[in-house]
Amino acid sequence: MSIRVTILGSGGTYPTPERGLPAIAVRMPGRLYLLDCGGCTQRQIFKSKLKIGPLTHIFITHLHGDHIFGVFGLLQTLTLLDRQKPLYIVGPEGIRSLIEEVGRWTWLKPSYELSVIEVRDERVFEFDTHYVRLFPVNHGVPAFGIVVEEKPRPGRLDVEKADRLGVPVHLRKRLQLGKAVRTPSGRVVHPEEVLGEAKPGRKVVYTGDTSPCDRVVREAKGANLLIHDSMYLVGDEKLAEEGVHSSYRDACEVAELCGVGLLLLTHFSPRYRNKDIEEAEEAAKKYFPRVVACRDFTTVEIDFSGACRVVEAGMR
Ligand SMILES: [Zn+2]
Ligand SMILES: [Zn+2]
Repeated sequence: MSIRVTILGSGGTYPTPERGLPAIAVRMPGRLYLLDCGGCTQRQIFKSKLKIGPLTHIFITHLHGDHIFGVFGLLQTLTLLDRQKPLYIVGPEGIRSLIEEVGRWTWLKPSYELSVIEVRDERVFEFDTHYVRLFPVNHGVPAFGIVVEEKPRPGRLDVEKADRLGVPVHLRKRLQLGKAVRTPSGRVVHPEEVLGEAKPGRKVVYTGDTSPCDRVVREAKGANLLIHDSMYLVGDEKLAEEGVHSSYRDACEVAELCGVGLLLLTHFSPRYRNKDIEEAEEAAKKYFPRVVACRDFTTVEIDFSGACRVVEAGMR
């Protein structure tokens, strides 16, 4: 199954007619994550083709308003929609009291179990097929980048060999899950006898807001998809340093160093119009050819082989 990533908001700081605020939907098998939830993210979700039901976790990179203010409205809407499934919100210290206080003063009574998890330095969450890892970045306030990384995937099943060993078809799935099976003749077959070499898991890295930092480079090594802060365009790099953000050129350097499959630039300053950003995308290709400047709703699929494909260009 493909991993599908949709940029719901490609701007930063405050919204413009063209761009919403940071929020990225990551669809993993059977579940949906939101990475950041800027103001009016729920409207962006409803405008997209995403279904909100599979949402299980909202990961917030940091507590600047452009990354969190959409949470409160979304929590209320989920109650109005009578959601029953538990929901987890993960973010830096302070997020629990923020959500509790806003909930208290707006008389929010969630129809679902709501859990808020505060992360201090870093943290790994393990799920059935993958991990989600929060790691510290450089933004002047406690801020995380986020890695969504699959566990190594089982190699291809050698069907001929499985036939030869007499493994019935209904037991082959177990072998692919790494478990030994017993054939009707009593022979025990171990996964390594019939499976090819394990494939590395696919990896998506989102920097959140950050100036270029070593930790991002370490985490993004070999990522299939890197979504990088690109607040500033050419000529404004000085602002990137002052504001603890990155320029598109910084992002390209990181992508090049890490050998990522595809680089998405996002969190553009509201000072820029679409024309500026399109020109920057062309210029960025000189530094790193596999780059896309996101628009709202830009959607990328990462197929089973790990190749990234832009399946929707997004809103102009
Ligand atoms: Zn921001
Ligand atoms: Zn910020």
